[in-house]
Amino acid sequence: TPEKAGKHITLLHTNDMHARAVESESNGELGFARLAGIIDSYRASNPNTLLLDGGDAIHGTTFATLVEGESVVRVMNAMGYDAAVPGNHEFNYGYNRLVELEPQMEYPLLSANIRVKEDDSPLFHPYVIKEVDGVKIGIFGLTTPETAYKTHPKNVDGLVFTDPAEEAKAIVAELKDQVDVIVALGHIGQDASSADTSLNIAKDVAGIDVFIDGHSHTMLQKGLEAGHGTLIASAGEYTKYLGVVDLWIDQGKVISKEAKLIDYKAAAAIGPDKKIAELVDSIVAEQQEVLSSEVGETAVKLDGEREQVRAGETNLGNLIADSLRSVTKADIAITNGGGIRASIDEGTITLGEIITVLPFGNQIVTLNVTGADIKAALENGVSDYPNPKGAFPQVSGIAFKIDTAKAKGSRVHSVTVGGAPLDAKKQYTLATNDFIAAGGDEYTMFASYPQAGMFGALDEALTSYLRGLGTAASPAVEGRITAGAT
Ligand code: ATP
Ligand code: ZN
Repeated sequence: TPEKAGKHITLLHTNDMHARAVESESNGELGFARLAGIIDSYRASNPNTLLLDGGDAIHGTTFATLVEGESVVRVMNAMGYDAAVPGNHEFNYGYNRLVELEPQMEYPLLSANIRVKEDDSPLFHPYVIKEVDGVKIGIFGLTTPETAYKTHPKNVDGLVFTDPAEEAKAIVAELKDQVDVIVALGHIGQDASSADTSLNIAKDVAGIDVFIDGHSHTMLQKGLEAGHGTLIASAGEYTKYLGVVDLWIDQGKVISKEAKLIDYKAAAAIGPDKKIAELVDSIVAEQQEVLSSEVGETAVKLDGEREQVRAGETNLGNLIADSLRSVTKADIAITNGGGIRASIDEGTITLGEIITVLPFGNQIVTLNVTGADIKAALENGVSDYPNPKGAFPQVSGIAFKIDTAKAKGSRVHSVTVGGAPLDAKKQYTLATNDFIAAGGDEYTMFASYPQAGMFGALDEALTSYLRGLGTAASPAVEGRITAGAT
């Protein structure tokens, strides 16, 4: 660390860890134990250190989903986090689950812009003031308003995500005479397509010394000097980096600040923290029995790659859509490619793989919908084709063509259901997941239909479908969805 005047405080930070608990050398993912090892070494050289998380921590692998996030909270407690902000994925188990987990967190969960609709009260603490070596540090949380539509509506029902810049302004005004340093802990991101970015907030709001950010999975090697001199820092994704922000404070003011990232290579010599390694290992071992149970076999790789499953028919998409139709006996099944989160290798299929592919805990529902709305749904799903889009439909019982020369909204043609042309006026039984049925991924045409039937969990339907197949499954891409001229 360079010699600077004043008191030296270090903010260590993570974001978008997505429950990557276990290290993966090939992916450059540190995992919790190696992250903790680096954190230990910083704490040893400077006791005036805080550890912060920028959200999307408690969901994303079976390590988390199997126990709805609790395992990650246990590890983060042991790692000694000082504060965290809820990201959009913290809501994947429903906000009541997050409210239930919060008291188990030995660190404050901060967000200034999530309010309870009924009485406008903040759902979590907006900010916390930490005193480190006599320096007062105000830390406030901000969560992306995209959460309102990026998760299942029922997960955030009763909540309002307010304007983060407005909330930030109010909090900075409240904090500025009480503290020496103001830190925004955001799950906001720097994605230009988003209405709210950390860059815009820094531009709009004076007085934020450091903005620790997440959501866009951005890797800022040396941070980013933004509006009003705010230093934005963000540590990529999946435990690939530990973010380090060094602050020097003199007479109640930050006089110097620097950001950097520590990656797998740079940390190679440090090694894992033993206590965290033991904790992670013991949780993994507890879970192993359930996850390793066999549910079937596949003769081919089942393709759930993001770029494939969001841009075209894949064999895994077909298999999942077929399982939906099989359990419901519906005419048609549509499921969003964005809900399929991984591939399955050739050979034995384990329950762990199924949960990894389908981590959202979706329920299956049927709706009785018109042919016209089926057509509108397909148009919505392929509007970005051939570019990937979460809404891309994986289908069963139905086939169609996409004419890319045609404008969005009128590029779907030659639609057949069970071999017969789709009739716009006829009613069909549609099986889908509850996210789509509620209008998720802009399938708004389905939101007004009452549920005709409910059929349990999507991952369970796939599991029993595979078990029913008995021998090895070998689903193929069979031309359900093709591109071609009218
Ligand atoms: P980030 O990790 O940066 O926050 P993200 O998960 O918000 O990313 P994507 O990885 O693009 O962004 O995933 C969003 C897509 O995930 C949605 O478009 C949708 O297809 C799918 N998705 C999100 N929630 C659900 C859900 N509850 N059920 C089914 N699919 C979902
Ligand atoms: Zn994320």
